[in-house]
Amino acid sequence: MFESLSDRLNGVFKKFRGQGRLDEENIQAGLREVRLALLEADVNYKVVKEFVDRVRERAMGQDVLKSLTPGQQVVKIVHDELVDLLGGEHQDLELRAKGPAVIMMVGLQGSGKTTTTGKLALHLRKDRKMNPLMVPADVYRPAAIEQLMSLGRQLDVPVFQSTSQMNPVDIARNAVAQAEAEGQDVVLLDTAGRLHIDEHLMEELANIKAAVNPNEILFVADAMTGQDAVNVAQSFNDLLDISGIVLTKMDGDARGGAALSIKSVTDKPIKFVGLGEKLSEIEAFHPDRIAGRILGMGDVMTLIEKAQTEIDEEEAEAIGKKMQRAEFDFEDFRTQMRRLKKLGSLESLMKLIPGMGSIREKLGDMNMHEKELGRVEAMINSMTVQERKQPKIINPSRRERIAKGSGVDIQDVNQLIKNFDNMQKMMKKMMGGSSKGKKKRMPQ
Ligand code: GDP
Repeated sequence: MFESLSDRLNGVFKKFRGQGRLDEENIQAGLREVRLALLEADVNYKVVKEFVDRVRERAMGQDVLKSLTPGQQVVKIVHDELVDLLGGEHQDLELRAKGPAVIMMVGLQGSGKTTTTGKLALHLRKDRKMNPLMVPADVYRPAAIEQLMSLGRQLDVPVFQSTSQMNPVDIARNAVAQAEAEGQDVVLLDTAGRLHIDEHLMEELANIKAAVNPNEILFVADAMTGQDAVNVAQSFNDLLDISGIVLTKMDGDARGGAALSIKSVTDKPIKFVGLGEKLSEIEAFHPDRIAGRILGMGDVMTLIEKAQTEIDEEEAEAIGKKMQRAEFDFEDFRTQMRRLKKLGSLESLMKLIPGMGSIREKLGDMNMHEKELGRVEAMINSMTVQERKQPKIINPSRRERIAKGSGVDIQDVNQLIKNFDNMQKMMKKMMGGSSKGKKKRMPQ
């Protein structure tokens, strides 16, 4: 997400940083480029104008021009203003309710409403230990009910038994009553969508809202549709007074025009972003972290949170001990590789690490590295459990079998085992070595 905008802005800032002194003229020139970059990213023109005016006003301040690092200061001003533009503070879901909280999902057909309903159900259950009920309230599209039922089976989350003969308002009301009776603490209403805004549908949504008084009305929009998404959001907001926005398909949106305009135009916060088709590919929206990512500063907080959901503390400690004793084997290695894969692609992980921009360029095609990891995993998969646990027993005939099993050359297997051996030695050193080694270094 934001790749093209990010590249453009970083190009501008490189020039800023390179200049020892800044004056009004080169700030103006730089801001013209920022303005162009934002317009090219399909950001609403009014939003761009206000943004650039604010940055200019602050950048022209005397203390910026006179400071020792004016270039850095301008970057900081742009960062702060971007955070503001994206919504300032992170806005969490409003779930503080007695009885079940109701989240009503609205938006056009194809925006990713049903997928996002499933993603939120998973997030609420996994990360917040809640007990959701998903409710299909689209009775017009025959496949819609089945789509949500199928997600329910996949996630093992209960789904309200709607039928296409029922009225959507009754569905909503009955579902909330059922959740209350059965102790579900959050109801996710997946409402109908149309290809365009449609009066009849809007009326139905308004009736559902009146009947169940939702805690949240989340407008789901496809980020790739840029300013269209912003305009549709505004219409939904006028009619329903939405409480927040979910931008989907950000994984395919290199420009970021919708993300950068929608808060400013609707005055409603983005609460989540969808980053892929998989049900785990959703992230809470934090304006400061996103601004950091756009400006190539990385996003360590998100990286840590991702890691925390996948790695449990006890296991991490056990692994640390194994490394220290040089007992870390191929079995552990494979487990960790699989964990890493769950966090996302190498490409997406690299972007979260500050300062990775230039290193990333040197590394070249990340898909190639990803493929290499795939080959390593195939080799480990072709080992027996005993081989994984005691790599020392892997003699030449075993190496040949592993190479055949994983479709690689025997040299590749030799290399893997050699690298692993070196890695073990290095880990032992880095983790403090054996207790004997430590004693030697300590003054007695
Ligand atoms: P609905 O008509 O609004 O309920 O839309 P769906 O949930 O059926 O989604 C439409 C299509 O968009 C499906 O193919 C989804 O897999 C896809 N989709 C949804 N969210 C995302 C996302 O964040 N990233 C990507 N790449 N695809 C998504």
